[in-house]
Amino acid sequence: MKPRKMSLSDRLDEFLDKNCLAPGDVPTRRDPTRPKMPGINAIKCNDCGQAEYLTRTHCRCGHYLLGQLEDEFLEWVEDLQRAHEEMAKTTEKKLKALRRAALVSMPFVVAPMLHFVLTESTITIYAMISIAIGMMILGVMAVSEAHICRPLRANSTFLETCTWESFLEFRSWPRNEGKNCELR
Ligand SMILES: [Zn+2]
Repeated sequence: MKPRKMSLSDRLDEFLDKNCLAPGDVPTRRDPTRPKMPGINAIKCNDCGQAEYLTRTHCRCGHYLLGQLEDEFLEWVEDLQRAHEEMAKTTEKKLKALRRAALVSMPFVVAPMLHFVLTESTITIYAMISIAIGMMILGVMAVSEAHICRPLRANSTFLETCTWESFLEFRSWPRNEGKNCELR
């Protein structure tokens, strides 16, 4: 008889069987009465490890799924708060650097003003150009400041308005489905 071509996994299974290393409960076909994992309607029970429908308050093994989901929610909020604090710190650093850079505009504005005040002469075209340059720099800085602060503001609005529903919505995004089981 011609030896049957075996894939690597078949050979591994054979090896495990021969050496009595195969786990007792080899995962078989998915239970059709349970949801697919990961899925937007599924949650992995922390007790039995099986996928269960998100709408059920209790897993079939008796584990309190709603409680597990609430824990996930609290953890999610904590993560958001932590991320927000981090973002606030980086934003503050960026703003400090920006304000230091804004000092560059000062001589352009202050020097002609001082000259005008001290000499009581009329403002020359050069002074006006200088002030205009200074104002332009300040304008650019103001726009940059708004740009730097925008993500932080958006984040804090989200934090203030985030609810259980936003959590479920977040959880249902394809990237985050069943995030709980990947994280643990
Ligand atoms: Zn269970």
